[in-house]
Amino acid sequence: MTPSTLSSQPLLKDAYHRVIRDLRVSVTERCNYKCFYCKPEFGFREARSRAGIMSYEEITHLTRLFVGMGVEKVRLTGGEPLLRRGIEDLVSMLSDIEGLADIAMTTNGHLLVSKARKLRDAGLHRLTVSLDSLRRERFASITGQDSLEQVMNGLRAAEDAGFSPIKINAVIVRGINDDEIEDFAHFSRETGHIVRFIEFMPLDEDKRWSHDKVVPQSEMIQRLRGVGQLVEKGRSYSSETASTFSYADGRGNIGIIAPVTAPFCGQCSRLRLTAEGKLRTCLFSLDDHDLLKPLRENVDDSVLIEMIRTITWRKEAGHKIGKQDFSYPNRSMSLIGG
Ligand code: SAM
Repeated sequence: MTPSTLSSQPLLKDAYHRVIRDLRVSVTERCNYKCFYCKPEFGFREARSRAGIMSYEEITHLTRLFVGMGVEKVRLTGGEPLLRRGIEDLVSMLSDIEGLADIAMTTNGHLLVSKARKLRDAGLHRLTVSLDSLRRERFASITGQDSLEQVMNGLRAAEDAGFSPIKINAVIVRGINDDEIEDFAHFSRETGHIVRFIEFMPLDEDKRWSHDKVVPQSEMIQRLRGVGQLVEKGRSYSSETASTFSYADGRGNIGIIAPVTAPFCGQCSRLRLTAEGKLRTCLFSLDDHDLLKPLRENVDDSVLIEMIRTITWRKEAGHKIGKQDFSYPNRSMSLIGG
C-alpha cells in the first residue's frame, strides 16, 4: 500500500458505532515492581523471549496502520515501559508518523531521573506516573521497592524536562491506601500534578479482587470535599476515562476513573496491543488476536487492515464486572498493558 492510500482509510469502528481513536501499546511484560493488584505474587508463568515481543519497527509499522484508520493517540505502557532498552528511540520513530497527534506514556517513574529528558527530546507529549502511596514504608510494601524518593526525584526530573501537567495514577484499595485520599488531594494542590484515583479492578492474576476492596467513586468524592470546595468539571472529551474535578480556589486537579461503579464502556475509543503483538478490544476480553505473526509473514498491509477492522467490529459492548457472567480476563493487567 502506498503512504497516501494508507492515510486515507475509513475510520476504524465497532458494531456499536464507537470510533477508535486511542491505541495502548505494551512494550514489555517485565516490571521492576510487584504490585499485588497487577502482577502475580510469585512471578510470571515464564518470561517471554525477546523474539516473542514486537520490535520497535514492528510497533511503528502497526501503529502507522492504526493511525491511517483514525487513531490519534498512542500510549506506551507495559509491564514497565522504561525497562525496555532505548525506549526513547521508539518514541522518536512514532513521532515521525504523520497524523499521530499525541504520544503518551504510563510509567512507575522508577527510572525517570535518567529518562525524562531523553523522552521529551524524542517527542513524548505526556506522562502519567503511577503512585499508590505517599508514605515511604507503605510504598515499599505495595511495590516491593523502597523507592518512593527515587520516584519523587523522577517526577521533578520530568517537570524539569518540560512535562506539564503530569498525571499521577493512584489505585485505591480498601484497607491498603484508602486513608490517603486527602493526602493525595493536598499533593495535587501543592505540586500542580493531576491526581487520578482509580477504582480497583479485577485484573490481578492472583484473583484477590472482591467488591468490598473497591472504594467507590461516590465515597472518594465525599472525602475529597473535606479538603476544600470541589468543582465538578465532567469529562473534557466524551471518551475520557476520568471524571474531572478541581478545587474552587484554583489549586488542585483531580480525576476519578470509576470503571466498577460508573462504567464508561459506551464511550470507549480504545484498543490495546500487547507486547507480543496481540490485539485486545477490551481490558476484560477473554481472548486476543495475533497481529505479529501475519506481520512477520509479510502479508500485505491491506490484509492486516482487514483483520484489524474485523476484530474491532466485534469489540465487546462493555465489561461485566459485578455481573453473574463475569469472568476474569485471560491476562493480568501487567500482561495486558494498562
Ligand atoms: N508499569 C507502568 C506503571 O506502573 O504505570 C505501566 C503499566 S501499569 C499495568 C498501568 C496502570 O494500570 C497503573 O497505573 C496501574 O496502577 C494500573 N492498574 C494495574 N492493575 C490494576 C487494577 N487491578 N485495577 C486498577 N488499576 C490497575
